[in-house]
Amino acid sequence: MGLQKPHSHKQKAQPITRPKNDENNGGDCFITSNLLINPPSIITPVSSDSPYNSWLLEHPSALGSFDRMMKVARGKRIVVFLDYDGTLSPIVDDPDRAFMSDEMRAAVREVAKYFPTAIISGRSRDKVKEFVQLSNVYYAGSHGMDIMAPARPLKSSGEAKHLAISIDKKDNDVLFQPAQKFMPAIQEILALLEEKTGNIQGAKIEDNRFCISVHYRRVREEDYGILEEKVKSLLQNYPDFHLTTGKKVLEVRPSIEWNKGHALDYLLDTLGFGNSSEVLPLYIGDDRTDEDAFKAIRSRGQGFPIIVSTIPKETKASHSLHDPSEVLTFLLRLARWRKGSSTSRSTFSNLGSW
Ligand SMILES: [Mg+2]
Repeated sequence: MGLQKPHSHKQKAQPITRPKNDENNGGDCFITSNLLINPPSIITPVSSDSPYNSWLLEHPSALGSFDRMMKVARGKRIVVFLDYDGTLSPIVDDPDRAFMSDEMRAAVREVAKYFPTAIISGRSRDKVKEFVQLSNVYYAGSHGMDIMAPARPLKSSGEAKHLAISIDKKDNDVLFQPAQKFMPAIQEILALLEEKTGNIQGAKIEDNRFCISVHYRRVREEDYGILEEKVKSLLQNYPDFHLTTGKKVLEVRPSIEWNKGHALDYLLDTLGFGNSSEVLPLYIGDDRTDEDAFKAIRSRGQGFPIIVSTIPKETKASHSLHDPSEVLTFLLRLARWRKGSSTSRSTFSNLGSW
């Protein structure tokens, strides 16, 4: 694939608000085979005074840039990766009630009809599956440490190295769990966390199989320090584990070099796109852990890392969506675009159900 050049922008100045339509608004920004080209600034923006609007210039709306993104995608094999919490579902106080809407489910189902689609979440794989309830998507739980993927012949030596860690076959899919050996320690930590945080009102421990979430969204502000201290002091006895932070959540994770970015690469490999220059991964996520996947797309040299955020934040994403409702709109448009695109239809003819 040749190097693509950014389109020049000769567009009419307009207010920089959340663009809802794709024509002539927002900057375009896409990744080519070698470079991620940032969008040229929009000419004479009427209002770029708010920090969010300034941030949008660097991370333009994926809705506003949709047509341009799809021009880049034409003839390529789009593979869709989606985070769950805060992307497909709203962030809620009770993590057990982070349900996705029927509309969102229908949109994901529609997208998965046309593109290989995987949900990569920090939750346990079973939990995400329970929320999503779709049979035509791949699921990767525990930040990608628990993947059910299609069985493929091994191609790269990297893949073989990881598969040697743990592999289990079920039907035609392969269960890939690189952190399997940590399971006994995880169970120990889980029990201790439940015991030690039981008296902190509002603290909620979630068993995500290969990682553990300590939710503190409902913990009183004055109790947070005690909670954090308890978690940290417990982990001192487990040097093979470390703590990461997310949205009102502390996460205990085994210290292995595996994250959502590795999961994205692994899934692309197993789908047969490992070294393909024709694949265009598209990842939508809202949290810090999604940055690893954004980085993975950047290092591949092509694809669209899209962050979901209502506030400006430091990110490796090229594009943005404001909230799950914009994710819904984007997914619907993606499916509709594919439906109307005879060129890409033939591209997918060798992908079985896709
Ligand atoms: Mg999330």
